[in-house]
Amino acid sequence: MIYLDNAATTPVVPAALEAAWPWLTAVFGNPSSTHELGLRAKTALESARSRIANWLDCPASDLVFTSGGTEGDNLAITGLALANPRGKQIVSAKTEHEAVLETLDYLERVHGFEITWLNVDHQGNIDLAELGKALRSDTTLVTLMLANNEIGTTHPLPQIIQATHAVGALVHTDAVQAAGWFDLRVGKNGSVVAGVDALTISGHKLGAPKGSGVTYIRGRLVVEPLLHGGGQEFGRRSGTENVAWAVALATAVDGLPEFSTESARVSALRDEFITQVLSSIPEAQLTGNPTERHPAIASFTFAGLNGETLLLELEQRGVIVSSGSACAAGSDDPSHVLIASGIDPDVAQTSVRFSLSHSTTAEELSTAAAALADAVSIVSGLAN
Ligand code: PLP
Repeated sequence: MIYLDNAATTPVVPAALEAAWPWLTAVFGNPSSTHELGLRAKTALESARSRIANWLDCPASDLVFTSGGTEGDNLAITGLALANPRGKQIVSAKTEHEAVLETLDYLERVHGFEITWLNVDHQGNIDLAELGKALRSDTTLVTLMLANNEIGTTHPLPQIIQATHAVGALVHTDAVQAAGWFDLRVGKNGSVVAGVDALTISGHKLGAPKGSGVTYIRGRLVVEPLLHGGGQEFGRRSGTENVAWAVALATAVDGLPEFSTESARVSALRDEFITQVLSSIPEAQLTGNPTERHPAIASFTFAGLNGETLLLELEQRGVIVSSGSACAAGSDDPSHVLIASGIDPDVAQTSVRFSLSHSTTAEELSTAAAALADAVSIVSGLAN
């Protein structure tokens, strides 16, 4: 099997599972308990937090352990919007993940926020001049993802942060797909997210279990919690902490390769794959920005073909991929990201996303490209 659906989820790395085990078994204490088992659990939790804080270059107390990307996006956006309303305007784009789109819809419907949607071009790029016009003295928050999960296009975060801070508003970024591929040191000058106010990470995209995650929210910022209760996580997220998953997440993070050499290495593999696909399959069109993109995501449309049949043909050839995003799977709707980018719905319906991992090889990608060419010839025969 050649698994090229890593943007949907990654396997748990063995070290993360092994590191989690003791905190589920022998040392199962509640970190809020004051006896030995509780104190040891608390120490493990705080050590996991410190290791992740080291990775993100932020104070450990700025991190909230969550159940993943969806919760993290909800917490950062809703929590900041409700607690820091300079006005009630939020700026975003329709290419964001559903976890952001639906949170903004909720804030609009239930709390009367006004959402200003930035246009995106055919490659999913925003226009910084349009952002400049959208920012106002009553803007509360800008939320724009670092790298798109479907088409891979990246947003120019340094300029977004600078423009937004110039009007005194906050910036949140969904960095769920970016972990391990970009410089996520929020405290480091020159990093792509330097100075961002909130940033969401999900564990299952980087080798930790599903249901693990962490969100950075700058310490001085007040956050309206989503979960009310015992006041854990500095009062930002009540509920007994999942020590085992926090330890697993920190262990997976510790095992990530150094992002800059790794991104260059995998981008080269991705580009070679893109060239193979575009040169052998006339119907194939690359989606997203050809250069400003996620190192490990290559997504194509195949106008005139049936995307679902293509996926099945690929699976029969041992290549596992997905159409658009896994989160939208199960629905026949074309990808909202492609629609927002102005792609014709019939064409958007044919999209197939290949997402690489840190261990994907050149051989696997050539095999996948050949399988894709083969699958396309079968499916286009069916279409004729
Ligand atoms: N944000 C992005 C960009 C994603 O790709 C995903 C998941 O695919 C999420 C948020 C949601 O993360 P989770 O599955 O951890 O809830």
